[in-house]
Amino acid sequence: MRARAAELDAADPLRSARDRFVLDDTVYLDGNSLGALPRSVPGRIADVVAEEWGRRRIRSWTESGWDTAPERIGDRLAPLLGAAPGQVVVGDSTSVNLFKLLVGAVRLAGDERDEILLDADTFPTDGYLAESAARLTGRRLRAVPAALIPAEAGPRTAVALVNHVDYRTGELRDLPGTTAALRAAGALSLWDLCHSAGALPVELDRHGVDFAVGCTYKYLNGGPGAPAFCYLAAAHLPRFDSPLPGWWGHREPFAMTGDYAPHATVRRARVGTPDVLSMLALEAALEVWDGVEIGTVRAKSLALTDFFLECVATLVPAGAVESLTPVEHAGRGSQVALRCAGAEGVMDRLVARGVVGDHRPPDVLRFGFTPLYTSFAETVRAAVTLAEVLAPDADR
Ligand SMILES: *Cc1c(COP(=O)(O)O)cnc(C)c1O
Repeated sequence: MRARAAELDAADPLRSARDRFVLDDTVYLDGNSLGALPRSVPGRIADVVAEEWGRRRIRSWTESGWDTAPERIGDRLAPLLGAAPGQVVVGDSTSVNLFKLLVGAVRLAGDERDEILLDADTFPTDGYLAESAARLTGRRLRAVPAALIPAEAGPRTAVALVNHVDYRTGELRDLPGTTAALRAAGALSLWDLCHSAGALPVELDRHGVDFAVGCTYKYLNGGPGAPAFCYLAAAHLPRFDSPLPGWWGHREPFAMTGDYAPHATVRRARVGTPDVLSMLALEAALEVWDGVEIGTVRAKSLALTDFFLECVATLVPAGAVESLTPVEHAGRGSQVALRCAGAEGVMDRLVARGVVGDHRPPDVLRFGFTPLYTSFAETVRAAVTLAEVLAPDADR
């Protein structure tokens, strides 16, 4: 397996991208939770602090482009999401953006559509916010397994909120088919791309997605608490009515008028003063994507996860783990999830041996594969280490 890994690494078109990150000997398979630090970030942040904040101070809002950073960085992100310019804005957290877009979608859908469909296996924050959004807008919230959303959407459905990749199992949902079915039912789609943005092609425009959100600190390596993004399809912009109409979404924030008039562009999805330092760290972090095709990233992601599953099947004692990750490529994100008794303790022992993944209750080990910096050699090492930890005679 080690020889195969060496061959695969030698033939890897993304091999040199690893040098764009600060990494060490640890096998870091937690980029699906917090991406590694890109080398382009520390110098840029030092400069922003010393020069833009330290010397230019208030002038930096205009002279350093702080005021338009959310749209500028949104446009930089857009090609990775398959979005034409002018539809993505960066800011706030995924949780806050979910609320804005969910309530905004319900308002667009009109009064006769009185239900919101929710991915039954959603990441918890989406569910909490959907419950509140439903209560505030007087809609009924109905949780449905993602695969059944196309069949369940009907004339009463305002919007469906779906996770593109299941955070626990790593299952990739059918975005094109589900979006098309929702549209056929006259309903809107809202996709949570937290585990797909930067990991695989999303093609929002091509598939006619209405709304999407996602975070930038996972596969996009923006740093802890990096601002999230919102995508609003151009067709919806003129009528999008945000439930959080803060002054930075106003047509003229500094006119300081008493009446709210939304900005004509995607800027209307903004709320308050942007978190400039995090945002500019994200902008610098996006330099790792220069010259990188997301299709190449996807091909390597599938090769890495295939190889890991094969190594685990070969090396790990039979019956010790059960893969929850779909075998078919069409249904797989960029992580491998293994059900394993005592997952928390097993992960602690892996981390102590230099292999960092994470675990999710009750019994799931998660290994995230970040094609820009994960090698095939590390993939074998992770499987070998897992086999050692799970060997019947391993010291606990
Ligand atoms: C990571 C993640 C979030 C995180 O939301 P925050 O507001 O950034 O804390 C939301 N949804 C999904 C599906 C996630 O994977």
